[in-house]
Amino acid sequence: MSGMQELVCSTTKQKVIEVGLDFLQGVGADHICRVCIAGGSSCCSGCRSIKHGFGCQKRNTSCTAWLCGFLKFIFYKAGFIHEWKQFWDQVPGQDYREDFTPPYFPVRMWLEKPNIRFLSEAFAEDLEELNPYHNVFWLIEMKETLDRHIDNLMKCSDPKVKRKIEKKINFLTKDFRRFHLAAEQLVK
Ligand code: SF4
Ligand code: SF4
Repeated sequence: MSGMQELVCSTTKQKVIEVGLDFLQGVGADHICRVCIAGGSSCCSGCRSIKHGFGCQKRNTSCTAWLCGFLKFIFYKAGFIHEWKQFWDQVPGQDYREDFTPPYFPVRMWLEKPNIRFLSEAFAEDLEELNPYHNVFWLIEMKETLDRHIDNLMKCSDPKVKRKIEKKINFLTKDFRRFHLAAEQLVK
């Protein structure tokens, strides 16, 4: 499944943020964020740019590009993780919770909005079912373990080690039954 188009042009910071948010919308990230935020494990906690009830007041390229463990897992399963990284590697000036991205810069690869909201919706429903008492520690542990495994997988070139990591991911997510059913519908 490819979500990229090649077209070299000068673009704006605002445009790449819009493309990124549009892509996240197509992935259905909001379904997962809703459960994560309700469970107290939001990545925006403590940030001075968050306004209660209104969300982020200073959307930047860095936070748009960043994927938590849950989203990394969805992107990995849907086959988007390399394209996402390639796209954001073109965007200069990313930092922690802020950016120094210039107003104009060249971009070669573009992302096409996917249509896999059903996958994230299924994952979010599983998350809710598997964590009925909204245990924030469970959410954080699950999110960070997925994050670590997917990072290791991305760095690894040894097929044997890759298979081992994939086994760990499969074991960790074995009870996400709606997600696994939904993943069968992905176009290969
Ligand atoms: S940590 Fe992930 S799922 Fe939670 S609010 Fe942030 S982006 Fe959404
Ligand atoms: S700057 Fe980043 S961490 Fe802060 S509220 Fe906005 S998206 Fe969340």
